[in-house]
Amino acid sequence: TARFLVGGNWKCNGDRESIVRLVADLNSGDVPSDVEVVCAPPFVYLDQVSKALMPPYQVAAQNCWVGKGGAFTGEVSAEMLSDCGVGWVILGHSERRALCGEDSQFVGKKVAYALEQGLRVIACIGETLEQRESGEMFNVLEEQMGAIAENVSDWGPVVIAYEPVWAIGTGVVATPDQAQEVHAYLRKWVTEKVGAGVADSLRILYGGSVNDANCVELAGQEDIDGFLVGGASLKGAAFVKICNAQS
Ligand code: 13P
Repeated sequence: TARFLVGGNWKCNGDRESIVRLVADLNSGDVPSDVEVVCAPPFVYLDQVSKALMPPYQVAAQNCWVGKGGAFTGEVSAEMLSDCGVGWVILGHSERRALCGEDSQFVGKKVAYALEQGLRVIACIGETLEQRESGEMFNVLEEQMGAIAENVSDWGPVVIAYEPVWAIGTGVVATPDQAQEVHAYLRKWVTEKVGAGVADSLRILYGGSVNDANCVELAGQEDIDGFLVGGASLKGAAFVKICNAQS
């Protein structure tokens, strides 16, 4: 099994001053050496955060453009992230799928291009409440996973984040059983479609209302290999506790 990974997705939050405080709180916290931690500030603060955040913390972007740079107003390319020393990118977050019209094919292309540029990728998938309640959940997850898997040949730099849309920002966390059911399904899917070796070493993160109170029980589930944290990643002490969920 793989190294536990915790991602902090800061989304569109913070300013220079609050980020100075958050980084100081993170730096003063104790993170176990066998846990990988990746913080994803908004683009404009990546430089500030990469300079101030100490190891073992790493940084990620929350998105990048689907291909090479050029006449794409408002976009940031994978090359630019590499150039600035950003090693990771989150792709296919449900907020980008729902609010920015990114479909699975587009996300798949982004994954392929980011990997080609040497970035490590946290690719997000997840069903809405309506899809879950209408029995569509596994079809939706399979479609999203399929479009990612089609674009990956080396799975080493790839992490999957299962983030049920109904749990994101709602305070309604998936129960450990609900999360484990989907994580086990995803790992089985990868075993069958990609191979047992990849399935065994692939990190599948859970995201959606993870906090310092519910993280330990979730982390105890067999197929949960880490978290992608939104709201609680903006609170240094809580986030550090989440990084310690497995110890
Ligand atoms: P919350 O932890 O705020 O529910 O957000 C989860 C998420 O979307 C992380 O990418």
